[in-house]
Amino acid sequence: MTSVPYLLSRHILCPLHERVLGRRTFARLRQIEREQWRSPVEVRLLQMRRLRSLLRHAVRNVPFYTARHKPTSRAERDGEPDRLHLRALPTLSKQDIRAHTDELIWPESPGRLRPYSTGGSSGDPLRFFIDRPRQASDAAARILTHRWFGVDAGHRELFLWGCPIELTRTDRLRAWRDGLFNHRLLSAFDLSRERMREYTDVFRRFRPRCLFGYPSTLSRWAEHLMTYEETLPIGCLRAVFVTGEVCDPVQRRTLERCFQVPVADGYGSREAGFIAHQCPAGSMHVIASEVLAEVLDGDRPAREGEFGEIVVTHLHAFGMPFIRYRTGDFGRLLPGRCPCGRGWPRMDAVQGRRTDGIHLPDGRFMHGLAVIYVLRETPGIEHFQVRQTSDFALEVQVVACEGAPSDVLRRVESGLRRVVGDQIPVRVRRTATIERAASGKHRPVISDVDASAASSSSGASRTPRSAVAVGSDAALEEAIA
Ligand SMILES: [Zn+2]
Repeated sequence: MTSVPYLLSRHILCPLHERVLGRRTFARLRQIEREQWRSPVEVRLLQMRRLRSLLRHAVRNVPFYTARHKPTSRAERDGEPDRLHLRALPTLSKQDIRAHTDELIWPESPGRLRPYSTGGSSGDPLRFFIDRPRQASDAAARILTHRWFGVDAGHRELFLWGCPIELTRTDRLRAWRDGLFNHRLLSAFDLSRERMREYTDVFRRFRPRCLFGYPSTLSRWAEHLMTYEETLPIGCLRAVFVTGEVCDPVQRRTLERCFQVPVADGYGSREAGFIAHQCPAGSMHVIASEVLAEVLDGDRPAREGEFGEIVVTHLHAFGMPFIRYRTGDFGRLLPGRCPCGRGWPRMDAVQGRRTDGIHLPDGRFMHGLAVIYVLRETPGIEHFQVRQTSDFALEVQVVACEGAPSDVLRRVESGLRRVVGDQIPVRVRRTATIERAASGKHRPVISDVDASAASSSSGASRTPRSAVAVGSDAALEEAIA
């Protein structure tokens, strides 16, 4: 297993690759490196400038937005696009994307649009398209946030990630290409003891600068290393990057103890882009040069500090604009500035997927956080999973720590009862391990209740048009529009 010298990879191979693909990734990187240090007001003004040109473009050139845009002012009706306001556009749901994929594309988009799809852990894949400038933006954000921890493009990075079992020709080609950037992929699907031993050998030979993967799989490997006292040359490591799942405090502590480096959490998705990342001071910063994040409580903007659904506008997606895209994830924007000095807003770690929530027979829906909090706050619990069966019952599996209180199961049950009431059965049992999903991801809350049936019985309806301003800064937006 050889690796490419860092300087060759960083200064020749990576830039060459991006240039051949027509992506201005490194120019974008230089720009956001500067922009991250601007003051919050300057950041906001920059976002609004980018937002304005995106909205104007979408309403003029993208059939979906041309049809959906309802002018909110006389100036707009008179065809003065500079007055265009974000709230003049409805939010964009996954269903909208499925139903209107073709109309969401800019027909005259320069360069080819690349098709993508999400794996569809909910069983319903999403197809969408990404142009080169957006690819460059997402790639630049990834490199930037790695650099916060002393890991640059071209440094050796070990991925513990989903990996096809049967490699196609394209997969092999991709693996060879990734080798040029010093990326090495290990499968997160097979975490048997034998396979984890092999991973340890790979680490020893490869000596990565950072690890990247789901917190659940990386912490499982860390537990294996500590249990079997396999020592690693961790002096080469600078950081462990986790993403894709809620990283719970036990997993974080396990990773820190095993690898002795900072653990940094990233939040994004294939369709919404690279949204936020933790800085060395521990704050999760919205990558505000590239995306605009709103938090909505239903259809109203949540107040700063309040939880709601994260809704994202990608400021560089012109080929297929993602404007006010409902991610289905929960989180909140935080007030105040980070001691690291960056001017980008801070948000709380994403606290569970909206689809992974609990439905009650009376039509109410609770997001996963409500039950996750109960389990997190009960002492003696190492891992857990809550599954709601199709008849609304909660089946809770708990892996207890050594020395956990003897009444730990009863405490969980009574905690959950306080949250969900008496209308559904709650069954808590102890287990040695918890199975992970086919994708390799750990989902803390899973509901098998038919969501459409549950929400129609509650009378809940999707109201795409709403008077929502950007975050809490409507006045500023008005002032510069
Ligand atoms: Zn910070």
